[in-house]
Amino acid sequence: MKIKKDDTVVVIAGKDRGKKGKVHQSFHKEGRLVVEGINIVKRHTKPRGTVRQAGIIEHEAKLHVSNVMLLCPKCNHPVRLGSHTLEDGNRVRVCRRCQEVID
Ligand SMILES: [Zn+2]
Repeated sequence: MKIKKDDTVVVIAGKDRGKKGKVHQSFHKEGRLVVEGINIVKRHTKPRGTVRQAGIIEHEAKLHVSNVMLLCPKCNHPVRLGSHTLEDGNRVRVCRRCQEVID
């Protein structure tokens, strides 16, 4: 998965299409992300025991990485990413649009 925590992404599919947000969490095994302010769902919860808060709780549901594109911090466009191996062997992400290294 090429998108990481703290990246800013643009949603390209679904009800939040066109919105931007910052990645809060990434789930590599599932290929899913939680993005700030995106894919909000309402949970109606009843108090159960002592931990649960009652009422309607809004919370961000995970969305699949294929539904977002990275907003390139260099050219400020939603972009596809390439990867590039540096001389020291580290791999970095590269914007396919402006060719800048993103990491
Ligand atoms: Zn770029």
